[in-house]
Amino acid sequence: MPVSTQNDLLRRDRVRLGASPASKAAAIEEAAQLLIASGCVEPGYAQSMLRREAVANTFLGHGVVIPHGMGEDRHMVRRDGIAVVQVPGGVEWGTGQMAWLIVAIAARGDAHIAILRRLTALMQDGEKLAALAVAEDVDEIVAALAGEAPRAAPAAPEADLAHRFDFVVDYPAGLHARPATAWVEAVRQSGLRVQVRHGDEVADGRNLVALLQLGLRAGDRVVVSAEGDDAAAGLARLRARMDSLTAQEVADAAKAAARGTDATRGWTPPGPLAAIEGIGASPGIAIGRLHVVAGGAVEIADVPVSLAEGGARLEAALAATRQQLAALVDDTARRLGAADAAIFRAQAELLNDGDLITLTCQLMVEGHGPAWAWNQAIERMAASLSALGNPVLAGRAADLRDVGRRVLALLDPSAVPGSLRDLPAAPCIVVAEELSPSDTAGLDLTLVVGLATAQGGPTSHTAILARTLGLPALVAGGGALLAAASGQMAILDGAAGRLYLDPPEPAIASAIAWREAMRARQAEAAQQRGAPAVTRDGHRIEIAANVNRPDQVRTALEAGGEGVGLMRTEFLFLERGATPDEDEQEAVYRAMIAALEGRPLIIRALDIGGDKQVAHLGLPREENPFLGVRGARLLLRRTDLLEPQLRAIYRAAMAGGDVSVMFPMVTSASEIVRLRAACERIRAELGAPVLPVGIMIEVPAAAVAADRLAAQCDFLSIGTNDLTQYALAIDRQNPELAAEADSLHPAVLRLIAQTVAGAAKHGRWVGVCGGIAGDPFGAALLAGLGVNELSMTPRDIAAVKARLRDSRFDELRALAARALDAATADEVRALDAGAQR
Ligand code: PEP
Ligand code: MG
Repeated sequence: MPVSTQNDLLRRDRVRLGASPASKAAAIEEAAQLLIASGCVEPGYAQSMLRREAVANTFLGHGVVIPHGMGEDRHMVRRDGIAVVQVPGGVEWGTGQMAWLIVAIAARGDAHIAILRRLTALMQDGEKLAALAVAEDVDEIVAALAGEAPRAAPAAPEADLAHRFDFVVDYPAGLHARPATAWVEAVRQSGLRVQVRHGDEVADGRNLVALLQLGLRAGDRVVVSAEGDDAAAGLARLRARMDSLTAQEVADAAKAAARGTDATRGWTPPGPLAAIEGIGASPGIAIGRLHVVAGGAVEIADVPVSLAEGGARLEAALAATRQQLAALVDDTARRLGAADAAIFRAQAELLNDGDLITLTCQLMVEGHGPAWAWNQAIERMAASLSALGNPVLAGRAADLRDVGRRVLALLDPSAVPGSLRDLPAAPCIVVAEELSPSDTAGLDLTLVVGLATAQGGPTSHTAILARTLGLPALVAGGGALLAAASGQMAILDGAAGRLYLDPPEPAIASAIAWREAMRARQAEAAQQRGAPAVTRDGHRIEIAANVNRPDQVRTALEAGGEGVGLMRTEFLFLERGATPDEDEQEAVYRAMIAALEGRPLIIRALDIGGDKQVAHLGLPREENPFLGVRGARLLLRRTDLLEPQLRAIYRAAMAGGDVSVMFPMVTSASEIVRLRAACERIRAELGAPVLPVGIMIEVPAAAVAADRLAAQCDFLSIGTNDLTQYALAIDRQNPELAAEADSLHPAVLRLIAQTVAGAAKHGRWVGVCGGIAGDPFGAALLAGLGVNELSMTPRDIAAVKARLRDSRFDELRALAARALDAATADEVRALDAGAQR
């Protein structure tokens, strides 16, 4: 393909001034004619552009539109080119949208992105755009769109700062928000002024949106330069951090590719069937009538307030949103893993974007209300990201809008679009522009069988939560999705990412048959998962699930959980802005007990502190919260938290059930004595049944002295996440050290062995509820070490059970003995290959 320069792209003869098309279609036709006349596209391209408008309106804002053809019509493009039709009188583009500058694009590759980038920079400059709409000189338009970029560095080398290195982006998905967030964090930590240059585009290393706007793809080369104290050493650390992200990015790409292959194994319609194409986000077939959630274009009332009040409200909304996101990070990390949770961390980072806050403040200074100003700022920045035609950036625009909506909901609750309350009585497929995590998590799964959103990407929160809920879903279905009508019959294929509207009867029958066949297969697998984990020589290990909410119990049991080995109650506190009272807590515990129908439930008392900070508790800031007042230490100091919780647990247990109480972060026997005394006093006051009281072994001191602690309690459950961080002195949240924080380090295994031995002296059982319990090899080792119960994320259960059932207990003991003798975690992991042979 010939190389296009910016000037080739937009030539003077492709600019028409003073046009007055009668309609949007006529305007598109006029622009297409300019492209056809200069040999950029074949006749027929105008129809393709019109089809695109039907799918997604290309109105950018400020009177600018960017019509372009459909992806599948790319063969009509002979060479890249741009044409501009100036309509000084304006032409209506969508409801309430007037277009003055029609920038028509013909693109085979991505050469036009430079012009779009210029255009999006211009979007911040309403005055300039207004001038271009009436300019009488073609050169003015050509210079504005294809001349020297105002943001570009004049000549590459001079633009760089004193110290620099070249970096080739080797992240398969390019520089998307997650690695970009890590770059920003590393730059901030360095204290340096850092610049990242790609070609003639330069971004400030502290500015996430600017970095994303570089649109870096795998293979792109950038120059990273810095100045400041000890810049060379700081840059070396930054580079090491950038390099260290590659492994995770490659692994994620492989995971995404694996999801892609799932799609090819989806349902095949019996004949040709028109479909709305999106991205498969959660596999499965859903059949039902659509329920289109109205929303999207909600009018945000512009209610000006004093600047002081506006600023204070904005600040409070941002702080509350950060807290919500922190809770979401925590929950997602525990349920799905740190990589998925990082998306929400990246969203929180978007809130720190200086340009976003500045723009909001500018609009407030101009006399607009905070909600209106915030919404405008989000929309302008998101539009500039989407306009670059880069899927990575389009995903980030969705993230930006998403996080923007969270803040907006706090600034003006009436501005939140759509309602899921008026669901039809029959099972339906919910269609929405986008859903918030709380909307998605709160869906009534007896009525909602599938989900399709116009926006979002496979890593958006909707997609993650849909997978967690096992709900077939597609995302990024585009505008066509929202044009569908409520009540229309549809088949949603969540693996392939397709929504078939008004399918004929044979297609519905075929989809039902396919879905039933899948269910039968799953039922067979569930039967296996339901069987106990008994080794080939007859040793049984209890398998429980880590579950926090009553509505997750059913999934956990279906996954093969024999009970709940860890209910982290801090989620009741983290997810809301206030402390839940005794009655509210009791209701949740009761629902949990009821859902388990007599199976064991271990309720862990509040574990606040360390990585779980709750703003509304107003706890003092600590220099080193992991070594501070957390877990049992906090409970003993804050009887106003401990006592209502214990009362709620004991009251709930009066209705029956197999309930145990467990205390986190216990260090010494005296703590257990005091906590037990509180339990007994409250139990006696209520006349409640005696409940087993256990402790978590998370502190090395507790593992070493397990025999003393076991004398005071009924059971011990090892929290390997914390035990590992304290034994190895590695912050569990430090991504740099994540690979070294291995719970299979022989030192951690020795602490586990000591715990088992200490418990055995008093006939107490030992469980493990940290992450390693869900790793099949880890579970095998733990069983060999003599652990009686393993509690894990439900999705890990099947694999762990299969591994244990396939083992002999005497072999597992021998394996554990070898692991205790190993020098490093790598040596321990190497035993896995030997054990599997
Ligand atoms: C642990 O530390 O292993 C544990 C299960 O507790 P949490 O992850 O909630 O700190
Ligand atoms: Mg812990």
